[in-house]
Amino acid sequence: MDQAKQARNRIRPAAVATLVGAFVAAGLLAAAALVGGTVEGLDAAASSILRQPGWSSAPSTRGEPVSGPAKRRGQVAPGGSAADRAVGSDDGALPDRATVFDVGYPGIGNLDPALLSALQTAAQDSGAAFYVSSGWRSAAYQEQLLEQAIATYGSTAEAAKWVAPADKSSHVTGSAVDLSDPQTQSWLAQHGAAYGLCLVYENEPWHFELRPDAPRQGCPPMYADAAHDPRMK
Ligand SMILES: [Zn+2]
Repeated sequence: MDQAKQARNRIRPAAVATLVGAFVAAGLLAAAALVGGTVEGLDAAASSILRQPGWSSAPSTRGEPVSGPAKRRGQVAPGGSAADRAVGSDDGALPDRATVFDVGYPGIGNLDPALLSALQTAAQDSGAAFYVSSGWRSAAYQEQLLEQAIATYGSTAEAAKWVAPADKSSHVTGSAVDLSDPQTQSWLAQHGAAYGLCLVYENEPWHFELRPDAPRQGCPPMYADAAHDPRMK
């Protein structure tokens, strides 16, 4: 092997690594763009995917019952993937700028009453509108978010850091809320404990749950992400 060839052979793996790195970076950027331009993760941002124009004026056409409590609806159709089914307001999808007082939306109205009450009191005290990007979600909606997260992050393990399965999600039980405004997030991070409103995951500054002991004891330590939450086991 001549010297030039040896040099090329030395260079090639480095060039390939650079190329692979560029592809990975491009993929990450694409994923970030998918979730709304920032690396916020799907939990808060995925609802925007489902906030396409028209969802609220497009009730289910799959022959589901039109009446009945929202909590009974949103089941994944037997034999069908959750991703096949359009989710809408009845699944908890919310329009932009829905606040904690917009209880007519199932995504807000189906929240745990104690959580909702704490949020409304905190909103009044703060003087700011508490915009909700996602609150209660049907099991079908949650499954769809999980499928999207697996597609975006490329693995079930990575997706689990951002989106819980439907049978474990605190959104499906109405026990969690995602607040979209960063100013509200930081106000609540500072003052939320007095209302029992606590951050739960270090990677999700928008996700709050009710911790009734927090007014006396403060909020418990956060988990690094949902995958570290023992409730997910
Ligand atoms: Zn959340």
